[in-house]
Amino acid sequence: GVPEVPARPVVPRRQSRQIQVGPVPVGGGAPVSVQSMTTTRTSDIGATLQQIAELTASGCQIVRVACPTQDDADALATIARKSQIPVIADIHFQPKYVFAAIEAGCAAVRVNPGNIKKFDDQVKEIARAAKDHGTPIRIGVNAGSLDRRLLQKYGKATPEALVESALWEASLFEEHGFRDIKISVKHNDPVVMIEAYRQLAERCDYPLHLGVTEAGPAFQGTIKSAVAFGALLSQGIGDTIRVSLSAPPVEEVKVGIQILESLGLRRRRLEIVSCPSCGRAQVDVYKLAEEVTAGLDGMEVPLRVAVMGCVVNGPGEAREADLGVASGNGKGQIFVKGEVIKTVPESRIVETLIEEAMKLAESKSPS
Ligand code: SF4
Repeated sequence: GVPEVPARPVVPRRQSRQIQVGPVPVGGGAPVSVQSMTTTRTSDIGATLQQIAELTASGCQIVRVACPTQDDADALATIARKSQIPVIADIHFQPKYVFAAIEAGCAAVRVNPGNIKKFDDQVKEIARAAKDHGTPIRIGVNAGSLDRRLLQKYGKATPEALVESALWEASLFEEHGFRDIKISVKHNDPVVMIEAYRQLAERCDYPLHLGVTEAGPAFQGTIKSAVAFGALLSQGIGDTIRVSLSAPPVEEVKVGIQILESLGLRRRRLEIVSCPSCGRAQVDVYKLAEEVTAGLDGMEVPLRVAVMGCVVNGPGEAREADLGVASGNGKGQIFVKGEVIKTVPESRIVETLIEEAMKLAESKSPS
């Protein structure tokens, strides 16, 4: 039969404190949010806003922009004001840009303490500015830029080293009464990353931003992220996620959303239940599944559509979906809500499924 999508996560979520990234709550039981990062030069305001608009359309809820130069810092205010989703400035090396980002009205600022010299001395000022503007800070520890002291102590970026770095930086903020913080401890090895987040989750109540850093090209990065986030989120750990891929950022968002949907952390929209095909198939299942997926892309209401290659298991599976097709003898039996509503020639399967999906979507939509 069609696998049941759980209505809720496997285990209760970890209790974390809640912060507000602009209008998006993170932690404290808020839905796990999906983030990405732009690849444009931030100083190119038009291109950056264009990419943010594309990300927004794909379901991205929070966007991060890099800020390596003064020109980028100067662009932040306009970008933060015009973006439809909250903008986080990503700062390495230069504390002065942290202040600029806060002043610019960014929804949050990511700092990488390992990459900012004398960071510890600056925390007091950063905490004060962030507090004045109500700007949360992400402490983003990264295996590739671990604090030198910890690298010496642990020899390499072990889970313990990542966690110690993060908690040390958090404690510096805490000394100034600042707790508007979320934390990430990223590593490119999912095994190390999972262990680091597990330890971190036990030792603080800050909301956690999950990420496998430098996860790789789309295929490998998708799998690494799905495995790592799946392990953590299925234990209730993680409040916001960013899939890093060497691919356009919209792809990261699609993968992130699919991960949450697969874990029952977000209601599915379109789900294609297609068979793997086998020697009994009487139609090109791969092509059919791809065409149906493309045709229904962007559908807002939840819909489960079965695409089956033959009539052996086909009708049974197709019946359990909202809508489906079982192919055979150059024809497709179209099922809606368990009933065969018509049989169409193979060439008309895709358009018929799309037509019927539209009708169902209309009847399901709230308006
Ligand atoms: Fe094979 Fe038919 Fe099952 Fe598809 S539905 S995997 S074609 S038996």
